Amino acid sequence: MEENFIEIMQKKLMDIKSELVSNLTASNADFKALMEGLDTKDLVDSASDDIDRRMIEAIGAQDMKRLRLIDSALTRIQQGKYGLCVRCGKRISQTRLEAIPYALMCINCQSSEERRNR
Ligand SMILES: [Zn+2]
Repeated sequence: MEENFIEIMQKKLMDIKSELVSNLTASNADFKALMEGLDTKDLVDSASDDIDRRMIEAIGAQDMKRLRLIDSALTRIQQGKYGLCVRCGKRISQTRLEAIPYALMCINCQSSEERRNR
């Protein structure tokens, strides 16, 4: 994977994240209060179940899931594993990553996962 591409994706992910966070902050008082009570470090490695629970209460499972995916993708960039499928370890296509920068699985694994969850 090209370093340049990863840099672009990292920036994209940060943008999506801050947009998501600012939308949520603007529309959701509970979330705003929660964010103000946290420092960024807590959020980045929000391993705490308590924070998770409160976030889900405030913003709903769907947005929480998206934030988590973005964080995981950012972590994978740091680990040098960005763009590799978390399931089969194969490379995720560049087109797919451009469309969904926080995709953690290749298209094959993603669709079999979705079939399984249906
Ligand atoms: Zn895969």
